[in-house]
Amino acid sequence: MTLPIYLIGARGCGKTTVGQSLALAQGCQFIDTDRWLQEQAQKSIAEIVEQEGWPAFRARETAALEAVSAPSCVIATGGGIILSEHNRHFMHEKGVVIYLCASVAVLANRLAAFPQEEQRPTLTGKPISEEVSEVLAQRDALYREAAHYVVDASLPPQQVVAEIEAVLQLARAS
Ligand code: ADP
Ligand code: MG
Repeated sequence: MTLPIYLIGARGCGKTTVGQSLALAQGCQFIDTDRWLQEQAQKSIAEIVEQEGWPAFRARETAALEAVSAPSCVIATGGGIILSEHNRHFMHEKGVVIYLCASVAVLANRLAAFPQEEQRPTLTGKPISEEVSEVLAQRDALYREAAHYVVDASLPPQQVVAEIEAVLQLARAS
């Protein structure tokens, strides 16, 4: 049995993609808090935000985080999960937190190439690179505060998985 592994980082950093491969490699269950809370609510994130507002969405996100946190799980989180001090502290105490870190250019390219994969409404209505830049400026320090380890998420997915596995081995040996 191992501690839950939390993947944190901005939209497009690869939490879902890398998380699924990592879970497979580790023989863990994979859970995506965004997906989990949408199934629970029977609504998309866009609908939750539109009908209930951002604070209600954030409350659902915290509830999801707490509900899914279990041993031998890889948990992909929503990009804004670290905005809550409670969530940062909860993840840091409960498990191993990995920040998938990528530059604005890398993130903006991925989001531009696959805009349909992210159902969350844009936060500002601005062009992608501008929005990514602003969001990262606001959140990078919070990701780092919550994280035990920072991994380069601009590498190909299998290399990101390998990096995380190396870091986990170190963590388990210590
Ligand atoms: P997140 O869950 O963090 O928002 P996703 O896993 O959904 O990110 O990835 C966003 C997009 O970027 C997807 O189209 C995915 O295929 C692509 N992607 C994710 N990780 C990588 C990577 N390491 N290298 C190249 N493309 C990636
Ligand atoms: Mg995702």
